[in-house]
Amino acid sequence: MNAPSFRIALYFVAGIAAFAQPPYDLLLKGGHLIDPKNRVYAIRDVAISSGKIAAVAEKIEPAKARRVVDVSGLYVTPGLVDIHVHAFAGTMAPEYTGALGVRPDGFTFRNGVATVVDAGSSGWRNFAEFKQQIIDNSRTRVLAMLNIVGRGMAGRTTVEQDTTDMDPERTASEAARYPGLVVGIKIAHYAGPEWTAVERAVEAGRRADLPVMVDFAEFRPERPFQDLVLRKLRPGDIYTHLYLGAVPMLDPQGRVLSYLLEARKRGVIFDVGHGAGSFLFRQAVPAVRQGFVPDSISTDLHVSSMNAGMKGMLNVMSKFLNMGMSLEDVILRSTWNPAREIRHPELGHVSVGSSADIAVLRIVDGNFGFVDSSRRRLQGTKRLVAELTLRDGRVVWDLNGLASDDWAK
Ligand SMILES: [Zn+2]
Repeated sequence: MNAPSFRIALYFVAGIAAFAQPPYDLLLKGGHLIDPKNRVYAIRDVAISSGKIAAVAEKIEPAKARRVVDVSGLYVTPGLVDIHVHAFAGTMAPEYTGALGVRPDGFTFRNGVATVVDAGSSGWRNFAEFKQQIIDNSRTRVLAMLNIVGRGMAGRTTVEQDTTDMDPERTASEAARYPGLVVGIKIAHYAGPEWTAVERAVEAGRRADLPVMVDFAEFRPERPFQDLVLRKLRPGDIYTHLYLGAVPMLDPQGRVLSYLLEARKRGVIFDVGHGAGSFLFRQAVPAVRQGFVPDSISTDLHVSSMNAGMKGMLNVMSKFLNMGMSLEDVILRSTWNPAREIRHPELGHVSVGSSADIAVLRIVDGNFGFVDSSRRRLQGTKRLVAELTLRDGRVVWDLNGLASDDWAK
């Protein structure tokens, strides 16, 4: 064969190969899709191409995908969004600026989580370090809230009490340097009797046009919690640690206090922020039974919480499932709701064109115990397990090798 005809033959072969190439990289076949944003709760096939959701339909031809994963009997949900974690683990600086943080990839994907928000571990002085060490080096999508304290969470009884390092202007201008990456302002652990810390955080939030997340720490009569949620916080601001023992939750007859409903009506967001010490069944069970459920479910993941009753995102979600919340509702509050709270409406749903962040979950039936912050147990019959997690269409967790070939074939 002479050179030109060889070249033509090569083009011909390449042309056939291109023609034969299936349009989808991956097809999740036969799963029960739970996509609260799009109100889809049904058996659907989901096809992925170039990291995006390419098609969602009742039936998609297997021949159209390079790999087909049978997910029948499983739940397909948007990749989970956990808006309260501590992931500043790149240094061995004190407390949440290092020693208590965890690297996100070790804990997220195995829990179906694709996106986390670091809740104020760093402030304007050390956010760049956090970004360089963790955000830029994680496969998990890591977003952040800046602590109103410039040095972040580098000491609960020292650094975090220093009101002279709570600078709304510098905090807001650091946030403005990273639009979309910095998604809020955090205030935590402040023990003083006045409102200074909360007010500075809200001022930074106003300047940066971002929501504020509050960990109210010590509840003091000089600054009642009721005033925080009824007056100080703006609509869209987030109170985390909803089922903390100190939150006034129930009247003597066990009914949810009306100020909480009023605060919710004002637009204040209530987030779980389970943590090591911030979740009691004696608060959560009666509240959930009466319909006072969290807007978003989050973990407050860190070294202490992950080894106590919190454990991981799916364990926290399983608690709500076993308290009687429907699976659809649990997923809504772990995907689309938190995505909106942090103003990332492109996340938390399975829409054609959106990033293919997906969790494939199994509900295991059995006899399970769930532990709260006072080491009280809730007995349950269901536990959520992550079979498969995709981030931007890539398989980043595959518990039982669903997306792998049998070794003998
Ligand atoms: Zn926290």
